[in-house]
Amino acid sequence: MSHLRFNALKEVLKRNPIPVEVPEKLSVLFNQNVFSEDAMREYMTKGAFGYIMAAREKGEKIPREAADQIAAAMKDWALSKGATHYTHWFQPLTGTTAEKHDAFFTPVEGGKAIEQFSGSMLVQQEPDASSFPNGGIRNTFEARGYTAWDPTSFAFVIGTTLCIPSVFISYTGETLDYKTPLLRALQLVDEAATDVARYFDRNVNKVQSTLGWEQEYFLVDSALFNTRPDLQFTGRTLVGHSPAKGQQLDDHYFGSIPLRALMYMQDLEIECMKLGIPIKTRHNEVAPNQFECAPVFEEANQAVDHNSLLMDLMARVARKHDFRVLFHEKPFKGVNGSGKHNNWSLSTDTGENLLSPGKNPKKNLQFLTFFINTIKAVNEYGDMLRSAIAAAGNDHRLGANEAPPAIISIFIGSQLFNVLNELEKVSKGKMSPDEKTDIKLNVVGKIPEILLDNTDRNRTSPFAFTGNKFEFRAVGSSANCAEPMMVLNTIVAHQLKKFKSEVDKLIDKGLKKDEAIFNVLRDYIKTSKNILFEGDGYSGDWEMEAAKRKLNNLKTTPEALKSELNQKYIDIYVENGVLTKREIEARNEIKLEKYSSLIDIEAQVLSDLARNHIIPTAINYQNKLIENVQGLKEIFSAAEFKDLAKEQIDLIKTISEKIAIIKSSVDKLLVEKTKSHHIEDSHKRAEAFCDNVKPLFDGIRSAVDDLEMMVDDEIWPLTKYRELLFTK
Ligand code: ADP
Ligand code: MG
Repeated sequence: MSHLRFNALKEVLKRNPIPVEVPEKLSVLFNQNVFSEDAMREYMTKGAFGYIMAAREKGEKIPREAADQIAAAMKDWALSKGATHYTHWFQPLTGTTAEKHDAFFTPVEGGKAIEQFSGSMLVQQEPDASSFPNGGIRNTFEARGYTAWDPTSFAFVIGTTLCIPSVFISYTGETLDYKTPLLRALQLVDEAATDVARYFDRNVNKVQSTLGWEQEYFLVDSALFNTRPDLQFTGRTLVGHSPAKGQQLDDHYFGSIPLRALMYMQDLEIECMKLGIPIKTRHNEVAPNQFECAPVFEEANQAVDHNSLLMDLMARVARKHDFRVLFHEKPFKGVNGSGKHNNWSLSTDTGENLLSPGKNPKKNLQFLTFFINTIKAVNEYGDMLRSAIAAAGNDHRLGANEAPPAIISIFIGSQLFNVLNELEKVSKGKMSPDEKTDIKLNVVGKIPEILLDNTDRNRTSPFAFTGNKFEFRAVGSSANCAEPMMVLNTIVAHQLKKFKSEVDKLIDKGLKKDEAIFNVLRDYIKTSKNILFEGDGYSGDWEMEAAKRKLNNLKTTPEALKSELNQKYIDIYVENGVLTKREIEARNEIKLEKYSSLIDIEAQVLSDLARNHIIPTAINYQNKLIENVQGLKEIFSAAEFKDLAKEQIDLIKTISEKIAIIKSSVDKLLVEKTKSHHIEDSHKRAEAFCDNVKPLFDGIRSAVDDLEMMVDDEIWPLTKYRELLFTK
């Protein structure tokens, strides 16, 4: 095995950056392989194009006859891009994207063949759903599902395949993917936010949720990756001693990007451009070999598709550059993990960002309305955001003093905090003209000035207001953004609906519109302040303070997923038609199963590594030491020998001790793993993996890492951290 490590290292030393031909202007590539509005206009009749736009903008159904025309146009366009196959591209709950390719090619009479693609093929395709997770839906109901075209997201060509963004639904109507509930939540927030936005501007007819994600990742050379079964099977290193040169120096952050990585990024950006993913920034991250990329924000559904597509592309392009990309939230112990910040806002069809303060008091009151309603929603339903990001990988990150803690709180900056304090003081009921003028001029009117010099940035907050958007920072790097976006938009929509009805009630009672709005906001500030936290989210004090405030600290995935089934949370989904109770339960079950099986796999891989790689290597080295000691005994006098062999004998003993620890811990691990595995109830099973299996990893790892420091480097089988993180 150690020759595998050294051969890999040799290979890495020989590597050269793979040159990438970058066009003079990246913009010429933009949307080249997307069936974009422009392409549709070119390939479609006006009528067919009109139906697509009505579906995109107003959610209208596309009639059957039009589907045939659209399919024909899509096929012609795809053939012109070299496509031979088509697939319904969707995001099942496994977390990756799925596709089943069918050829356009169809034999016809007379030994001939044509390229065929009809409306029914476009609208619907039946993959075999039996191997996708469905959280028990399969057992009781019809689990086979169908994919259906989502016209709100553009089709695209990758290689020789036309990809048709789709939803995935069971025959009994349950959603089996990330996208369907997201689309429902987006529709909900559109309706709710439009109603509220119309208090301020009657011209608003539609509100879109916007998302700008920031994707963090690690690159590891593929040869080195292949020497680490833990990276291969679990996406993270289960053992490995910290390198001498760690992250302490922080010299990687915003430093120059290594050339091989830079070539990878350029290649990736070219592929992104062709697919319409508006990648804008790239830089080094805090840890060595860690990077980030981020696009210009987009409508949330499109942005979610683009992030999934980006992750596919990243893995694909990495192969070409002899890299593996790691999306795991914590691939290396002692080194910063990876997240995926979700920047979120709401914007109107009149071109306004509802979370951006405006030029006059009226616009600012609009800003405050959406701002405070969001705070209120998170205060009431923060646990839903927590469970939306719950996953085995993210557990390593949340609260590990490098990422936001598992306690959901909101950072808004001291100036806005003061504004809320002022607003809280407005009178209940009718306000005097003086009071109104004062508030408008001195509180609401001053917001843009405040924000301009609000450079306050709190990196430790899981949910921070950053000038004209909220940034949900606790999302894991491997996550699909659809779920956090579904939750956030649902809870905000629900809150806005309540707000609207409360304000309307006060108006009916004779209050002026602005008075009514001030009154309701004032109450919201009072009841939601609890969630606001401006201090250091990493500190132990915050944990204690949060406990006093009765904010939950759901540290593990099983804990977070347990809260997901609280009646209050089921109600909000059901009441708003985002998910049915059965869907919620099924999704919860899928996440629990995924959690248990990940820990199960990690336990297995760690045991195998310990028994097949580490213990034999340690014994091997120990034998060398024993030989050495025996030799010393032969050639030296007893007194001299005692002196000269002391260190070796100590080392021999320590190695035996470490081996004994590893052996007994692995035995225990395997027993606990088997016990957990046999627990029927999925919640209890996940808890057992979390509480009884996972904690045993630490003792094994620590003994293995000690051995790494004792055993001759020449025979150590696993590629070391310094090699994984610092070779070019
Ligand atoms: P950071 O300092 O956290 O890296 P940036 O200012 O670079 O933050 O912005 C990060 C992301 O915020 C970008 O992806 C950008 O597209 C996104 N963003 C900006 N405005 C909005 C908005 N109105 N809605 C959603 N995302 C937005
Ligand atoms: Mg950010």
